[in-house]
Amino acid sequence: MRLFQLAAAVAAFSFAISPAIAAPHDNDPVPPFKIGEGLYYVGASDITSFLFVSKAGMILIDGGYESTAPQILANIRTLGFDPHRVKVLLSTHGHLDHAGGLAQLKRETGAELYASAEDGALMDRGGKADFGLGDAAAYPPVTPDRGVVDGQKISLGGWTLTAHLTPGHTRGCTTWTFPVTVAGQVRQGLLLCSNSVLPMYRLAGKESYPGIAADYEKSYGFWRSAPCEVFLGSHGIFFNLTAKRQALAAGKADAFVDPEGCRAWFDKGYAAFHAELARQQAAAKP
Ligand SMILES: [Zn+2]
Repeated sequence: MRLFQLAAAVAAFSFAISPAIAAPHDNDPVPPFKIGEGLYYVGASDITSFLFVSKAGMILIDGGYESTAPQILANIRTLGFDPHRVKVLLSTHGHLDHAGGLAQLKRETGAELYASAEDGALMDRGGKADFGLGDAAAYPPVTPDRGVVDGQKISLGGWTLTAHLTPGHTRGCTTWTFPVTVAGQVRQGLLLCSNSVLPMYRLAGKESYPGIAADYEKSYGFWRSAPCEVFLGSHGIFFNLTAKRQALAAGKADAFVDPEGCRAWFDKGYAAFHAELARQQAAAKP
């Protein structure tokens, strides 16, 4: 594929993922900052990455695009941490804009990469043969060292992160939950994989993959019942990253504590999912 075609495919892809923002502005550098005790934001303007710091080492979740990885590494250093202290590399899902940088991050940190079976296989294929995107959103392949199953706990230092398989957006989409201290209070954190239904996804008739609609339904069952006080996600737009970053900088220490925003996001998403499902079911009728 020629370069401009690839760029167009990538732009169309990221636009499809976050239609409310202009694609070129999801990957702008932003300064890293502290969200809670030992929890830091090290991602780009909308494409996120989170660093969990402990005396025993660090956990990093998500690698952004291939071009985000150098930003993430620079952000970790800006905070005064050595990237070699990243021992565990985790992921929300295997799409280009979150897994594109994982190969470089794994190489440069020496961390072990954990991923669900389905999205780990997608990463191993460098994003190719995706059920919705085909080969249009390829990235440097990376092979996970370890698997992740539903309910698995990953502990390092004082951190314990729990994996929740929430398929639909990808077949192995993984939402992470963890306790985190913010402004002196222990809160329940939730890092959302993604609940979006991409425009090319088929939920009725011949489904994009067998069971995709049932998967979304089940994932919403988890999302809508899970404790969620510190709401985070693979895209900043899910949880109002920019506004919260500004509020934090202005002195609101608990800017990222937002259980109402979390609930509202999943209520809105659930309604949109059902509207799209009904539309596709009606269109699929002979
Ligand atoms: Zn995605």
